[in-house]
Parts: sequence; structure tokens; C-alpha cells
Amino acid sequence: MASPSSPPLIASVEAGGTKFVCAIGYGPGNVVAELRLPTTTPDETIGRCVEFFATQQAAHGEIAALGVATFGPAGVNPTRADYGFITTTPKPGWQNVPLLESLRNALGGIPAGFDTDVNAAALAEWKWGAGNGVDSLLYYTIGTGIGGGFVSGGGAPLHGLVHPEMGHVRLPHDHTRDPFAGSCPFHGDCFEGLASGTAMEARWKQSATNMPPEHPAWELEAEYIALALNNSVCSLSPERLVLGGGVMGQEHLFPLIRAKLVGYINGYIDSPMILEQIDQYVVPPA
Ligand code: ZN
Repeated sequence: MASPSSPPLIASVEAGGTKFVCAIGYGPGNVVAELRLPTTTPDETIGRCVEFFATQQAAHGEIAALGVATFGPAGVNPTRADYGFITTTPKPGWQNVPLLESLRNALGGIPAGFDTDVNAAALAEWKWGAGNGVDSLLYYTIGTGIGGGFVSGGGAPLHGLVHPEMGHVRLPHDHTRDPFAGSCPFHGDCFEGLASGTAMEARWKQSATNMPPEHPAWELEAEYIALALNNSVCSLSPERLVLGGGVMGQEHLFPLIRAKLVGYINGYIDSPMILEQIDQYVVPPA
């Protein structure tokens, strides 16, 4: 049981399209218990999360607050009726699911935060990871899909009409050099359609994880990622760019991306981060 002087016990849920991860703990270095479960139906999946938290609460004492990071699209504006919902996802059975309310009610209505998985990752990197010393940080996950989150102003994730959909920006696409039409069901050759792990596998007929560093796929991949980063640097002016996700597990991509980004910016943005310290500007998650 927690003593009056111990820090608050926090519950967290990372809700993904294929798996959920629930945890309780006192901070990133002090996770007390964790549960990974496959995403099935909302009733079963959320039910198992609730059960896990009830068991943990019985063992470790009252949970003080809850943080939920979810796949989307999701309602992230607290003034709207769809706040805390997974909204229009193509995932069967998960449209208009009140994820936050179901979890929070089971925990007695404790204070809670709710955001997209990528905004949560951006916030976590800003607070505890690769964002050390900066106010604004952009996080991209480049894996099966592509998403981006942005934090600035002392830890405020960027929201707006809905939430950013940085994976679906449009990029220049040279069809002669890269005849692949793109894999996004909505846009074809948007950023995700050209550069996600799914796109790479469809274009090259093999999984990105099996491609050696000398494969021509990586040069093209680095170009698309650097083009997207160029657009983000010009539109958001982040002080740090963090690139995570399965595709970015290929560490040889980082130097390629950095060099191309510097080339695309072409001296226009007069910052030592880009001109001299690009290795500390575009970094993996910490
Ligand atoms: Zn798209």
C-alpha cells in the first residue's frame, strides 16, 4: 500500500489497433505492473483493462490519475461531445467507442488525460526523453502506418479541428522513378501511402525488416521522410525532431534523412541546429 509520502500511483493505457498495453506505476522508471492484450471487441478489451486496474488497485492502493493514448481518429477536444471517443476508425466494432469514459468510470471518475498515441509519445519524449532542454518537439512514428504529434508551450500537445494527421500530408512523387501508386486507402500516395512499412512491403515485395542497408529502398525512403520533415520544419518550427516506429529501427536511415533534410532546407532556415548540429536535431526516441 502507498504511504502518504509516496508519489501518486498512475494508470496508463496505450490503445492500439492490434494490442492494448495497460500499466500502473509512479513514473517511466518505476512501472509496477503491465498487461499486454490483443485488441478484440471493445467490450472484451476494455473489460480486461478494467479488471487489471481493479486487481492492481487492490494490491497497491488507490490509483490517482489515468492517462490514455489511443489509435484514432479520436475525440481529443474536451469541450466536444465526442471527447474521449475513438470516432471514425475503419477498425470493425470500434467506431464511436467511449474509451476514456469506460475506463475512467471504472476507476471512480479520477482525473484523466486523453490523446492520440503520437501526441502522447511526443509528450513523453518532451518530458522524459529526447526532448531534454527544448520547448517544442515533433514526434513521428514510421511503422505499419505513419503519424505525427507535436508538443510546445510547456508541454501542450497540438490539437485543432481534430488532431494533426501528419502521416497524410502530400509529397512530391516522381512516378517515373517510383511507379508505386501508394498504399493509403484514402489518398494513395500521401506520406503514409509512400513511406510506411506497409507501403515499403507492397512496393518491394518484401518486408522492410528484411532489406539490407544497401537496398535501394532506403535511399527512396529517406527522401520521402526528409521531404515530410522539411514541410514540418517550415510549418511548425520544432526545436527537435524525434523519429520512432518499426521502420526507424533501421539506424542507417538517420544519416541519410539528416543529409537530405539539410539539402531540402538549403540554408534557408538560419539555425545552428540545422546548419551545424543536425545529429542532435533529428534523433531516435529516448
Ligand atoms: Zn493518406
